[in-house]
Amino acid sequence: MAKFIQAIRGMNDCLPQQTPLWQLAEQAIRDTVAAYGYSEIRTPIVESTDLFKRSIGEVTDIVEKEMYTFDDRNGDSLTLRPEGTACCVRAGNQHGLLYNQEQRLWYMGPMFRHERPQKGRYRQFHQFGVEVYGIADAQADAEVLLMSAHLWKKLGMAQHVRLELNTLGDNDERASYRDALIAYLEQHKEALDEDSLRRMYSNPLRVLDSKNPQVQAILVDAPKLSEHLGEETKAHFSKLCELLSLAGIEYQVNERLVRGLDYYNRTVFEWVTDSLGAQGTVLAGGRYDGLVQQLGGKATPAVGFAMGIERLVLMLEALELVDNVPSAVDVYVCAMGDNAQSQSMLISEQLRQQHSGLRVMKHNAGGNFKKQMKKADQSGAKIVLIFGDDELENQQVSVKFLREDKPQLTMSMSDLSTLLEQL
Ligand code: ATP
Ligand code: MG
Repeated sequence: MAKFIQAIRGMNDCLPQQTPLWQLAEQAIRDTVAAYGYSEIRTPIVESTDLFKRSIGEVTDIVEKEMYTFDDRNGDSLTLRPEGTACCVRAGNQHGLLYNQEQRLWYMGPMFRHERPQKGRYRQFHQFGVEVYGIADAQADAEVLLMSAHLWKKLGMAQHVRLELNTLGDNDERASYRDALIAYLEQHKEALDEDSLRRMYSNPLRVLDSKNPQVQAILVDAPKLSEHLGEETKAHFSKLCELLSLAGIEYQVNERLVRGLDYYNRTVFEWVTDSLGAQGTVLAGGRYDGLVQQLGGKATPAVGFAMGIERLVLMLEALELVDNVPSAVDVYVCAMGDNAQSQSMLISEQLRQQHSGLRVMKHNAGGNFKKQMKKADQSGAKIVLIFGDDELENQQVSVKFLREDKPQLTMSMSDLSTLLEQL
């Protein structure tokens, strides 16, 4: 027998029993962005490799070892997008959306990173993200954080996530810190791993992001970025902190939070949870005032975040926050005999047209009464309609209640309409 072809490692199918939870999460996301007046943007999944090298940074995990990069038939180097921010900026610049304008955008879709697959970490995963352009004020930073908090509340997750916050300062502030950090790291070379040693000069802030406990231990006494920040950066950060406090959003300042992408400046943040084990960051983002210009546009302040939808869905499952995943069917239509089978197909279609939103599944596989009832029950429908020649002749229908303890009824088609309106 031929062997089944398997999906690519780390790229998951979302099976029918999982999609309702995904749809529920996606709907909560759509309702949330709508509540803030954000507009959706959809960009291609494939972009020029240069876009990600120039934005995320050459010396980052993503660009060094995680991108799916290939030459297409013309010999151009293309990459499956590992994240959405660079794509939004590329599209914004290309279509003049960012030039002297404000934009509040959101996106949702698959991203690709060649990582070691494990719980909460996949090679094709999905992100929901928002990007705000043209607003330098800390109110924009506060708004995207408020929006994420709004989403946690909507999904009943607010007790299970906490916000960590930091400011990375501006370029010159980071440059001055960089020198101090390199000097410190040079004194502790023996404790650094290969990655950190390699990045020490090319991108020393990346070392702060190391997940190696030995490296983290050395960093405890490292010089602090906060000692190199100027007044403006500090004022921006304290305004954000004040706005969050005012809104009742709790946060913790984590001075070692740097994020794994190079384009961030000033505000960076992560929403983390203890309910997912090692992959505890659900949502992450920050300000990236330099990126639009770096990618060829006019200097434009920007702030945004990205959330991993798999991690969100895993949380909803782990915390058992959704007890009633909705079924796909309201009404199941059965029929006894050939004539009734074909007649009831037309009636099913009429019901779908008359009752907007009503989900009607017609039994199409024949079989006896018992078999049809079994299918009706499996469909998750609330009621089953039964048509036989007698019912059709009298323009009636028999109705059986599948989820309530009520007797079977025979009623006119107009009474059925009333019943369906109340379902
Ligand atoms: P991590 O430190 O977990 O690798 P990251 O810093 O690479 O995360 P970002 O690039 O900021 O993450 O992406 C934002 C969010 O996207 C993460 O917080 C996470 O929820 C999700 N995410 C990132 N990489 C993956 C992945 N490989 N599989 C599933 N979700 C992911
Ligand atoms: Mg990562």
